[in-house]
Amino acid sequence: MNDKVHFRMCIGCQEMMHKNKLLRICSTEKGIFVDKTNKMGGRGAYICSGSCLKTAEKRKRLNRALKTAVPDEILCLLYKEFENE
Ligand SMILES: [Zn+2]
Repeated sequence: MNDKVHFRMCIGCQEMMHKNKLLRICSTEKGIFVDKTNKMGGRGAYICSGSCLKTAEKRKRLNRALKTAVPDEILCLLYKEFENE
């Protein structure tokens, strides 16, 4: 496999997955965003599902991965992203 660089770890289940399957959250100078394009810079964290988001929220892994507190409205947006699965 030569596309290993495209694999990222989900901060919920901590499995390595292709980044197409993960939702990226990023922390930039302008704040925290749900990075659907995967192109925003900054520090990123990846999540694969709604249940992993819950795990990450409970264990404060998002805050730790992004090195900042993630506001509730961003968490809401994230939950919405996984709602249609
Ligand atoms: Zn996961």
